[in-house]
Amino acid sequence: MSNETDPHLLVAIMQRAFAQKQDSFPRRVNLEGHTLERGITEDRITSIRTFPILDAIASLSVSQGTHEVYAVALQVDPVNQKIRLTIAGNQGVPVYLKAHLVKVWGKLQELSTQYAENRGLDPNSERSPRVPKGVALPTRVDIFRDICQFSLEKLVTRGEKWRAGLSHFMRQLVKHRKTGLQGVELDLFHATLGLLKLHKSLSGLHLDSKKEFTHKEWVDIYQESMWASKCTQRVLEYDNGTGCEKLARKLGGRRCYGGPFRLRRALEKLNSLPRNIKILVAFANSRRLRPALQYAMSIVAVPAQTRFIPLPRSQDDWLLVLQNETEQHYPWQLGEAEALLQAFKPPRKKCDVHCECSLIQYLERCHASGTAWDKIPPFNYLGVSKLSCYACYLWITAFNEQGGRKIFTRGSHGKWCFPWAMPNSGKNLVRSMAKKLSKEYYAYLSMSGLIWLDEDSTPPSSPVGGEDSDTEEDGERAAMIATMVEESGGIAEAFSAFLY
Ligand SMILES: [Zn+2]
Repeated sequence: MSNETDPHLLVAIMQRAFAQKQDSFPRRVNLEGHTLERGITEDRITSIRTFPILDAIASLSVSQGTHEVYAVALQVDPVNQKIRLTIAGNQGVPVYLKAHLVKVWGKLQELSTQYAENRGLDPNSERSPRVPKGVALPTRVDIFRDICQFSLEKLVTRGEKWRAGLSHFMRQLVKHRKTGLQGVELDLFHATLGLLKLHKSLSGLHLDSKKEFTHKEWVDIYQESMWASKCTQRVLEYDNGTGCEKLARKLGGRRCYGGPFRLRRALEKLNSLPRNIKILVAFANSRRLRPALQYAMSIVAVPAQTRFIPLPRSQDDWLLVLQNETEQHYPWQLGEAEALLQAFKPPRKKCDVHCECSLIQYLERCHASGTAWDKIPPFNYLGVSKLSCYACYLWITAFNEQGGRKIFTRGSHGKWCFPWAMPNSGKNLVRSMAKKLSKEYYAYLSMSGLIWLDEDSTPPSSPVGGEDSDTEEDGERAAMIATMVEESGGIAEAFSAFLY
């Protein structure tokens, strides 16, 4: 395989190859094997707890329905008692987002102080205390309301996507269980009810811009959401985290389209807001993380990065790219070259650098305006508002293999996206990325039966998605064909017998 193809073209080729099949790919989550080098404190347990906090901050930064993604990094300067959030977005960072984060952070500081003043007994305990019931309720509701109002469009769009499916699933379940619901099914019923009610309230607010809730109404919505979130968590954790799938299979097997309902996904998506609020409240209540909310916080926004990627200008140019990768010519490459030309119009494509990659690149560089922060390494986990695309995941892996600082995120959903561009990187990183992409492309071609490897000179296996083979039947068929070939006097003769 070649190392010379522009990595961006390989991402485009993979995106087209998987265009119709992406949803069937398993989701990849990447939390194992992290060695945390710097957290808010040196304590390992405390450091791990900052993972969901950073992901929650990235998530609450999203206000629009789609296509908005943010990544957040954290630096702490304990000597000067300062903390800095660096934020990057796929299309840059709007000014109003910084103002929103400053506002939410200020209320978290308030909440942290109120919790500190209301600690229960055992003030020296190493563990964070339970969130005291009833304490600082107005502040918690304020934070909840601010986040709902800022992210209203996103929350309503997400709710619309999952609400009907979840509601249909629940109705089927209730119909199926004539004697009433118990255990996890009762939890699911409560969770569904609470999450759908939250969605309905937010939709009402979204539809009528003049509509306002009273403080009492916000308190009710907040408390019901927290309760729904608790029930959702129990359903997600049921039967060691497999209960959701079992329930969906049991009830959804009869669906004539798309297989069982994606119950876990629906619950996770609809529960995302209450879950993030709970994470932020736990952060404010944490004894060990308290310094983070006492230090002076600043925010820096990473400028958006866009690159114009030159594309092959003709079918022959794409054909050369494909043949260069496989180092052999295959008949299917001609059609694929034409399809690529149609899919990606030359001469060039405007591509955004995705936020997690541009954030990593920003943190690696020195900046004239922030020399003091340049010397403070960031926490080596980045919060991201959604799982990374597969090209970003590979780029971060390639970056981590360069021998310098390692950076982690919560993982990748395994899908290919193009337009996509990597940050302007050194030659070694570009080469390493090209190598990884070539490997992925080769694996795809081999798996799809479009090539076979020279070493074993075996013909390609059945294409992906073919019917399962029946070994016994295959054996009989193979024997019949062998006899036919023998009787015909050779393979060529056997073929010609069928050509008329
Ligand atoms: Zn990406």
